[in-house]
Amino acid sequence: MRTIDHALSASGIASQRFIRQLHFGPSLAEQGLGARRALLQASLHADEIPPMLVAQHLRRRLTELEAQGRLLGEVVLLPACNPIGLSQQVWGRMHGRFELASGQNFNRLYPDLAEVAAAQVELGDDAAANLRALRAALHAALGAQPARTALQQLRVQLLRLAIDADVVLDMHCDNDAVLHLYAAPQQAAQAQQLGDCIGSPLALLAEESGDFPYDEACSMVWRRLRERLGERVPFACFASTLEFRGETEVSHEIAERDAEALIRFLALQGFIDAEVDAPDQSCSLRPLAGCMHIHAPHAGVVVFGDTLGREVKAGQAIGEVIDPVSGESTPLCSPVDGLHFARELQRWAQAGQSVAKVAGMEALRSGKLLSA
Ligand SMILES: [Zn+2]
Repeated sequence: MRTIDHALSASGIASQRFIRQLHFGPSLAEQGLGARRALLQASLHADEIPPMLVAQHLRRRLTELEAQGRLLGEVVLLPACNPIGLSQQVWGRMHGRFELASGQNFNRLYPDLAEVAAAQVELGDDAAANLRALRAALHAALGAQPARTALQQLRVQLLRLAIDADVVLDMHCDNDAVLHLYAAPQQAAQAQQLGDCIGSPLALLAEESGDFPYDEACSMVWRRLRERLGERVPFACFASTLEFRGETEVSHEIAERDAEALIRFLALQGFIDAEVDAPDQSCSLRPLAGCMHIHAPHAGVVVFGDTLGREVKAGQAIGEVIDPVSGESTPLCSPVDGLHFARELQRWAQAGQSVAKVAGMEALRSGKLLSA
């Protein structure tokens, strides 16, 4: 294992933050022609803790596999990829979703490098040479991006690692949820394999969910290059955001199982020399545009039933909201048939607030599809 600490030079006066990168297996240079990389990063939203424990179990397993000489490609693990968010503490609570300095979500506003990169590339008939040229052009385009603030430097470094990656797994968690993942519809087969490996009941597919999250910057840049330069551009990177259940589900037992499932996926993707059976199909692929929010009609105490992780019917109550002053109680009903896969952790809702999500089969929404 090689450890590289990438400094964020704009961290502040007399202080220093860095992104720790753990590189397992043969480096890209050591692999030579056809070199492959998988990038796994934990907790871009720094207050989403479960992925950081999964990363600890991955670190141990990857160290073992490397010592056994079983890593066929490079696996880069960022065990805590957002040092800015990790340091944000306000009134005794960690705030890791938005940068306090700018108000920006750490997992939004990644640059689209396709237009600038495409203008720099002439493709030929050699697929490997084309891929090298495209990646070099993407690196050049990324080099021209502003990197003055620590947040800009963080975004640039995470994308820099991803440009050379064939697989990118961005590990998060939801408020209170079952395991699920996000991916692009063009990569439904890989999403199915990943979801089945980790035992996820749900994969939400969207080409563009809005505001340029990290996973789409990694995978959809290849689609945009393809639109400009034609079919000789490969879909060179499979990227997925993984949601490792709810915020409080932090245990060695769960994290060890999740890490082992990711090792299995990496083996099926050719990064690990191991005999693994194809997983049983457990994961249902549904459109992100069919993910429907349930909103509280008025403020109050939220009391959920036992539907989390279950299929519910349109009109079925998944809980109620109770106005503690008037005593009024209103059922919280699913707008569609679908899987109730996530809900708010806080059991108080303001009027109009989204308190739960149900994944239906039909795309019913448009525009921005993710939460703020
Ligand atoms: Zn997140």
